[in-house]
Formats: sequence, C-alpha cells, structure tokens
Amino acid sequence: MEVPFFDLAAQQRFLKGDILPALEQTLLSGRYVLGDNVAAFEEAIASYIGVASAVGLNSGTDALRLSLQALAIGPGDEVIVPAFGFVAAAECVDQVGASLVLADIDPRTFNLDPSDVARRMTRRTKAIIPIHLFGQAALLAELLALCNDWDIALIEDTAQALGGRYCGRLLGGWGRVGCFSFYPTKTLGSVGDAGMVTTNDEAVAKRLRGLRNHGVESRYDHRVVGWNSRLDEVQAAVLRVKLPYLERWNRKRAAIAARYSRRLADTPVKTPILSHKSSHVFSVYAILTSERDRLKEHLASAGIQSIIYYPQPLHLQAAYRHLGYNEGDFPAAEEVARTVLPLPIYPELSDEQVDYVSDRIHAFFA
Ligand SMILES: *Cc1c(COP(=O)(O)O)cnc(C)c1O
Repeated sequence: MEVPFFDLAAQQRFLKGDILPALEQTLLSGRYVLGDNVAAFEEAIASYIGVASAVGLNSGTDALRLSLQALAIGPGDEVIVPAFGFVAAAECVDQVGASLVLADIDPRTFNLDPSDVARRMTRRTKAIIPIHLFGQAALLAELLALCNDWDIALIEDTAQALGGRYCGRLLGGWGRVGCFSFYPTKTLGSVGDAGMVTTNDEAVAKRLRGLRNHGVESRYDHRVVGWNSRLDEVQAAVLRVKLPYLERWNRKRAAIAARYSRRLADTPVKTPILSHKSSHVFSVYAILTSERDRLKEHLASAGIQSIIYYPQPLHLQAAYRHLGYNEGDFPAAEEVARTVLPLPIYPELSDEQVDYVSDRIHAFFA
C-alpha cells in the first residue's frame, strides 16, 4: 500500500463541478485582483471567525508582516515568537526591523510556554506571536493575561488552525489580529498562495488595506510605504467554493487522529495531547519517539511518506545565529525537533491507510 503524505488534488477533484464554473466566470470577468470574489471571501471569513473585518493578502507570511506594520511595530521593539514552529513569524519580526525574542514551548502540545514567555518580557516587548501549532490552540488565556498586563498586542499565527477553537470560540478572533494562510497544505487550501488577516480593530483593517496596495488611500495618493500583497480573484473563487466544507473536513481530520491515537496507544510512541479547552483541527498529526529517524526509514520502506516538521528549532538555524542563542537555550524545542514525526493526515485518508500506518509502527517496535 502507498500512503502519500499529502493528496493536494483530492478536494479539487471532489469539487471540480463547482470549482470549474467559478473559475470560468472569473476568467471571463476581466476582474483579476481585489474584485468581487475577494470581497465576498473576506466577508465569509469575517463572519465565520466572528470578527468585524478580514483583509485578503497574498500569503500567510504577508499577513504576519503587514500586521506587525499595521500595529506600528518596528525598530526598538521586541516581539516574542516560539523557538519551535514554522519560520514565517520570526522572519517577519526581523523584516520590520524589530528585535526577535524566542521563547520555549511545552513539549507535549508543541505550543508556546506562557511561563517562559513571561520570563522574557521586557519594557520593550510590543507583541507576542503564538503559533497554534499543528492545529491546536496555544494557551490563549495565559498569553492574553500577559498581553493585558503589559498592554501589548497578541498576534495569532493561525496559519495551521483555521476552524480550530479555544473555549468554543474560533481561533483568529482572540488576538488584536489573526493571521491566516491558504497555502495548499493548510486546512483550507487554495491552488496557489493566499492569506488573510482578521481583526475587530477597524483602524488596523484600514491600515492593512492600504499596506497591501502600495500604501494608497485613494488612487496614487500614497500615505505610507506599502507593498503589493493583494489576494487574487482566482484563489478567492476557489476558496469560496471550498469554505463550506471546512468544518466537515476538520471533523474528518479529528476522527483520523483519534483512530491513529487509539491504534498507537500500546506502542512506545507519544501521541498528541488534547487540551480540554480547545478543539484540535489536526493540520498535522505528530507523534514523538526517540527512534524517530529509524522509524521514518522503516515507514518509507513500506511506502509511507512522512515529513519532519521541524527538524531544527529556530535558534539553531543559520539565518538566526545573529540572535546570539546557543544550543541548550530552548531544551523543549530542541527535544521536540529531535523526536517529532508527523504522519500522513488529510480528510481523504482512508481507515485502511491509517490502520496500515499504525500496523507498520507496531511492527517496527515488535
Ligand atoms: C504556512 C504557515 C505560514 C505562512 O503561510 P504562507 O501562506 O505560506 O506564507 C505562517 N505560519 C505558519 C505556522 C504556517 O504553517
């Protein structure tokens, strides 16, 4: 049996009858950037998340970078980001000229450890960017309490967790801004690059609409130095068709995760921990094992693909040497990077495939 890590065309195959007419209409509309599809998709996401505004951008990375700028964070300011996770939040802090401060994670939920964040706060700290890693909410109550005490912004990196909830309310609606990506591997995937920011702060939304379009307020009136970071109509047209299926797909992911965890319960691997306060959308299903590299090889030889998110914590990456951190500074991030093994998970994965992967893991440890 073959178990690929992704099947990115599956949803487009399933929805071809709806996607193709939407694409044809867009193709012949003559309106390709920031048109009706983008406006309608922004409205649909804002109402789904339960916020006042959503601003479509060309990637999740730009959602983070433009949010920092819209919040006037720059040189002289510090921003705290987890040492383990996707690199985008860290690179954006650097790119706006602010100082990047890393904090360690909790090794079992992979999410930012609020007590380590608290230790690293200074008078210059202007924002905390938790990543809802692998689809489970960060510890928002603790992090929001810190942000309120220090009167600073919480920026949610929600790129992996669209549809996830914390205390019953959707992620991306908790912080000053929520940053989303619709990269094809996310829980709601476009057929290219796309991103969005959600916020209840109308002034921030207005600044984001300017920043994404060369800083213009009205045509050729440039109020700030901006970017070209507009969401295009083709992506928005596809995403509008797919959004109504998101919750169903996320429930399927959760069911697959539960099946994996049941079947792996009597092996030495550590399966994901579910917080009682949050729903987990399992954009990634990651186990932990000290035998990681050998197990990955064993699975590959049985036709099962796995991809390691993330083999190096940020402080040990060449690009972030300038921060001056050393090996040993973030023990949990380092431990997880050595032992984490994400397994294939997507709504179209069959029970037979899940059982096959689980059986191969059993065989490895037998
Ligand atoms: C995918 C991802 C991003 C970046 O999104 P792009 O749309 O690829 O720029 C940011 N943060 C996290 C946690 C991600 O997984």
